[in-house]
Amino acid sequence: MSKVALVTGGTRGIGAAISLALQAAGYKVAANYAGNDDAAAKFTEETGIPAYKWSVADYDACAEGIARVEADLGPVDVLVNNAGITRDSMFHKMTRQMWQEVMDTNLSGLFNMTHPLWPGMRERKFGRVVNISSINGQKGQAGQANYSAAKAGDLGFTKALAQEGARAGITVNAICPGYIGTEMVMAVPEKVRESIIAQIPVGRLGAPEEIARCVVFLAGDDAGFITGATITANGGQYFV
Ligand code: NDP
Repeated sequence: MSKVALVTGGTRGIGAAISLALQAAGYKVAANYAGNDDAAAKFTEETGIPAYKWSVADYDACAEGIARVEADLGPVDVLVNNAGITRDSMFHKMTRQMWQEVMDTNLSGLFNMTHPLWPGMRERKFGRVVNISSINGQKGQAGQANYSAAKAGDLGFTKALAQEGARAGITVNAICPGYIGTEMVMAVPEKVRESIIAQIPVGRLGAPEEIARCVVFLAGDDAGFITGATITANGGQYFV
């Protein structure tokens, strides 16, 4: 029987590529999103992957949303914590709201999504959790104190939970993408994009599908001995 995968922020950008790659690999996929109904409806129409709306920043909404997904598709075997936001600003101009929104989505979102699913994964003695962190959580980035802190926190969460899940058949891993050619990055002026690409040794942006293939690998049986790991996929821009 097909395994069930739930991808947060799974209707756009990297998340959409992850949803599609998991579907192609034979999973029953549910894609969560926050507010962009048009993009979600178009995604479902084009792919047949059902979209579920709730904010990962809200614990109760996550628990309710997960219950809906499980009622429709069955118990979730694979959780991909991909939803993320930016509220960039130099620190002296950063507001508490900018800090808090990024923490709530990019760090607490992982707790809110993983915590309700954890008991079921433990009971069934199987689970795969894949957390999408960022190169900027590894190296830090000026203008992103909030984002860098949250994404670094995601890596600590990954390593701690990997230790707790190991005996229960649950693996927990992270992926740190570098600059990926999503709408967000493609929307910046060409000159800025060129200066970003100039910093990437392989000389190009990453493709969302390249991150998606890492997720499929970590979710699969071949990755059963890998837990607490971080896959760095950044075109050689930063080595840990
Ligand atoms: P996008 O902005 O293209 O898509 C983000 C997705 O997350 C959307 O589906 C959005 O939903 C959803 N989302 C945002 N906030 C919430 C929330 N509170 N609850 C539920 N869903 C939410 O992002 P990317 O594809 O570029 O990024 C995906 C992940 O990869 C993020 O974690 C990001 O930090 C990380 N990353 C991205 C890099 C890049 O170069 N793009 C580089 C390194 C890491 P909706 O459609 O409703 O808005």
